[in-house]
Parts: sequence; C-alpha cells; structure tokens
Amino acid sequence: MMKSSSLVFLLSQILVLQQLAVFCASQDFDFFYFVLQWPGAYCDTKQSCCYPTTGKPAADFGIHGLWPNYNDGSYPSNCDNSNSFNPSSISSIKRQLQSEWPTLACPSGDGNKFWGHEWDKHGTCSEDILDQPGYFQAGLKLKQQTDLLGALQNAGINPNGKFYSQTSITKAIRDSIGITPGLECNVDASGNSQLYQIYICVDTSATNLIECPVLPRGKCSSRIEFPIF
Ligand code: AMP
Ligand code: AMP
Repeated sequence: MMKSSSLVFLLSQILVLQQLAVFCASQDFDFFYFVLQWPGAYCDTKQSCCYPTTGKPAADFGIHGLWPNYNDGSYPSNCDNSNSFNPSSISSIKRQLQSEWPTLACPSGDGNKFWGHEWDKHGTCSEDILDQPGYFQAGLKLKQQTDLLGALQNAGINPNGKFYSQTSITKAIRDSIGITPGLECNVDASGNSQLYQIYICVDTSATNLIECPVLPRGKCSSRIEFPIF
C-alpha cells in the first residue's frame, strides 16, 4: 500500500509532466491563411512597387504568406525571436521562391527581406510544425495545389482591367478548389476597388484545404476590377 504522501508527490509530478507536454506541443493556433497576391494590384496603387532584382515576376498570383490564425479571427505574431530567418536555410529553393513568392517592396531586393519578414512574423508561430525550409516548401506546394489564375480564367475572369462581380470571382475559385476563399481588395491610383489578395484556409498540418472558420474582412465592393499586370 502506497503512503498518502508519496501518492500526493506522484500526482503532483504527473501534473507537472502534463503541463510540460502542453507547453512543448505549443501548436498554439487553429488554422492557416494561405495568402496569395495579385502583383498588378500591389503595383498600381498610389504607393507603387519595385520589381525584384531578378526582374518582373510572371503575371500570376504570388505567395504573400502562410499565416497561423485563431478561429476568432485574431492571430499570433513574432512568436520566437531566438529562431530568426536564416537565408542559407532556403538557398536550395531560392529560385522557386523568387518566381512564386516574389518581393515587390521598394527598393528592389532579392527576396530575403520579404521572406525574413514572413518567417519572423508568422512562420515562428508554427515552428513546431514547419521549420524554416518546411515553411517555405509548404507555401510552394500549396501554390501548386491551387491554380487560382487558371480557376478564374476558366470562368472567363481575366486580368484585363475589367470589372467582375465579387460573387463570380468567389464562385470560380470555389468551383475549382472546393472551398470558399476570402477576397481582399485595395484601391488603385484612381480609387477603384480591385482584387488584391485571396485567402485560402489550410489545416494546421499545412496540407489540406479547409472551409475557413472565419473569413477576413476584405474591403471588396460588389464589383471588383481585375487589373492588368
Ligand atoms: P499590410 O500588408 O501592411 O496591410 O499588413 C497587414 C498585415 O497584417 C498582413 O500582411 C499580415 O501580416 C497581418 N495580418 C492581418 N490580418 C491577419 C490575419 N488574419 N492573420 C495573420 N496576419 C494578419
Ligand atoms: P504581413 O505583415 O505579412 O506579414 O506583411 C505585411 C507587409 O508586407 C506590409 O508592409 C506589406 O506592404 C508588405 N508586403 C506585402 N506584399 C509584399 C510583397 N509582395 N513584397 C514585399 N513586401 C510585401
């Protein structure tokens, strides 16, 4: 028969271990937003843009980031300043990132500053699931899984400076990838609402597309311009 004092000790140890397990498995978010960006809408604003040092990106959606999020719409950021971006960790996929995850900020850069910002701000919040190369690889893989430009073009929605209804854009993407995307608009230099970013929700393993637990408030009008790039 165990003495009650050793039983109390044992129970307290179990509690400590449990807390430690919760702490270590700190996958502290509910889903990812995979955010794609139309370069034409980044560049034709009042603020303008700078093409990367590698040249003008293709006329396709580029990756903005993979953002851990909570079901209530809030999100964690800058979760681990001891694990900051290390450019050599992505050297083997740098060319792919330059074409699929292009920087457009000024002055022109090779991408490391933008990727570093995304890793430090968002990637560190899912570091238990994706390490640095894993985070960027996951973005590239998701981009392959979701041909948004193809989806829109199949539905007759082209980046030609014309206006399309928000419902038709949403439907074209849902018909192609099976889930409802979030749309974000910004305004061009003459004040028109235009398609800027598309949010696709992904489960915490960063592999499966899911219906969004919460859609971002995207500031789109009912009719949206799809600008030329
Ligand atoms: P900007 O691109 O300057 O408008 O900055 C907005 C930034 O806020 C985004 O790029 C994200 O880094 C962050 N952000 C806004 N909403 C979310 C969200 N729901 N989840 C994660 N990050 C977000
Ligand atoms: P968010 O904080 O991801 O994580 O990013 C928001 C910041 O990234 C804002 O300052 C944006 O202006 C900037 N940003 C958004 N898209 C790009 C891009 N394609 N290249 C470089 N910076 C960008």
